Amino acid sequence: MSNFTLPFSFTLPTKIVYGPGCIVSLIDELQLNNGNKPVIITDKGVKNAGILDKITSLLAQNNISCTVYDGVEPNPKDVNVEEGAKIAREFGADSIIAVGGGSPIDCAKSVGVLLAHDGDKIKKYEGKTAATKHLPLLITIPTTSGTGSELTFSSVITDTENNYKMTVKSQYTAAKVAICDPELTLSLPAHITASTGMDALTHAIEAYTAACAEPISDAAALYATELIYNNLVRAFNDGSNLEARSAMLLGSMLAGIAFSHSDVASVHCIAESLGGVYDLPHGVCNAVFLPHVMEYNMEYCLERYARIAKAMGLNFENEKEGAKKAVEAVKKLALDVKLPLFSSLNVNTDDFEKLAEMSVKNISTESNPRPMTKEDYLKVIENAYRHK
Ligand code: NAD
Repeated sequence: MSNFTLPFSFTLPTKIVYGPGCIVSLIDELQLNNGNKPVIITDKGVKNAGILDKITSLLAQNNISCTVYDGVEPNPKDVNVEEGAKIAREFGADSIIAVGGGSPIDCAKSVGVLLAHDGDKIKKYEGKTAATKHLPLLITIPTTSGTGSELTFSSVITDTENNYKMTVKSQYTAAKVAICDPELTLSLPAHITASTGMDALTHAIEAYTAACAEPISDAAALYATELIYNNLVRAFNDGSNLEARSAMLLGSMLAGIAFSHSDVASVHCIAESLGGVYDLPHGVCNAVFLPHVMEYNMEYCLERYARIAKAMGLNFENEKEGAKKAVEAVKKLALDVKLPLFSSLNVNTDDFEKLAEMSVKNISTESNPRPMTKEDYLKVIENAYRHK
């Protein structure tokens, strides 16, 4: 069914600077936006890959003093946000540079929320409306092709008291500038290329089929699907392939634009529950549930899944066949890039009830194209566990 007659609005507050080598434009962007004393927020993996050095050298060559917080953990924790804010305040930072995958970028957005509101605990800003002030200048520099966080409004932070991933987002929480340089993704190890790439594909597919999808997010989601589906294996097999890396970064950016204006849906609800309880990589969690949620949704979005199959370049005779081929393609892709099966992730089956309960409470459950109860979630989780 078309959505052409439904109203929507579309705001992308982030300026995108894209291209191999474009990291050098960081200096211009800081100067244009009066960023004189940045705090860099990153993690140890990005530092060990030599990317942090590249950026601090660039700043030093231009006499810009900075401080660094490199303690962000995967599935970034509330305590990381609070530590980052403390370091920023001690330095008197007037701007934030986020360098890394979704973890440092999300942490940086929430650091920005604390600085803007003079807050101390990020929990206070959970949800879609609690952050009410403009962040200090935030420049995002993605080094994975997965989350799209460089362009989204969301910051996903683990509440360490209750072991779940909360979302902090509002109209004020997107970056001012995203500097998207595919060369910075060349050092990504193959297994992270795989998991982050499947995260991006999940964004595209869920955004395209979400109940609140609109025409501009549809356009972004379909091109994202084409780019990611046709380049993930290339980037996985040869990490030095700049063309494949560039296509993947563009794909994940477009998928980020798509889902931040539409939404994600039940795959993410389960993945965030699992990631919150077991601290597993987000992309792996998405990959293991994506085909099973698609199978659950199948009858509700035959036409849209068939359109996804077309974007992937698959041939089919009718919508039903196309939709089925899209699900099979997603299953095969996860195997081709050697992602683990759900049954191999050491998740205790006694926790399935709890995961289903957490998933149904996730704010994106209402965006799933087919309504989903706790019992429905439980069945999907069990199906994923049986998948060999
Ligand atoms: P990540 O940021 O946790 O990074 C994964 C690993 O890759 C880390 O060890 C990191 O050091 C390493 N790494 C990153 N770039 C590298 C590079 N170029 N070379 C070598 N190593 C590199 O992973 P991610 O998948 O990008 O982010 C996951 C987080 O993002 C999760 O917490 C998830 O919930 C969140 N997320 C946020 C949004 C959003 O819109 N804000 C969307 C989806 C997911």
